[in-house]
Amino acid sequence: MRIGHGYDLHRLEPVAPAGAGRPFVLAGVRFDHDLGPVGHSDGDAVYHAITDAVLGAIGAPDIGRLFPDDDPRWAGADSAQFLADAAGRMDADGLAIGNVDVTVVCERPKLGVHRDAMIDNIARTLGCDRALVNVKGKTHEGVDAVGEGRAVEVHAVVLLRSR
Ligand code: MG
Repeated sequence: MRIGHGYDLHRLEPVAPAGAGRPFVLAGVRFDHDLGPVGHSDGDAVYHAITDAVLGAIGAPDIGRLFPDDDPRWAGADSAQFLADAAGRMDADGLAIGNVDVTVVCERPKLGVHRDAMIDNIARTLGCDRALVNVKGKTHEGVDAVGEGRAVEVHAVVLLRSR
């Protein structure tokens, strides 16, 4: 078995044209929110954190080294392709998902009705059963940048097993 941890944070700003924020997307699901992540790709912090967890578990270079944020190929990119790439590397190493556990920390919006769609997207992109994927949300109790709604933070842990 292999275990991997991933972490990501994106600053949130008013969505264009009011500011530099991109549409608020987590695990490929679009949230209706007046703020969105600032990032080179689509700023999907859930996909980024899980990607780094999978890459970490297999001892591969991290997301920033594989998909540099100064490479025009990844400008505005759908981050599902980063996760799919990591899943392909996992598969090539003879490994499969044991389980994935994700914690999203943000004040707003609430994950709520979007949670199931997020789980479906993660499971489909990783090629695993949705029962192996867990997504939960927490607030930051109103303190610090995350608590003040100025950032979204994601922690992800993955366990990989031999196929
Ligand atoms: Mg990121």
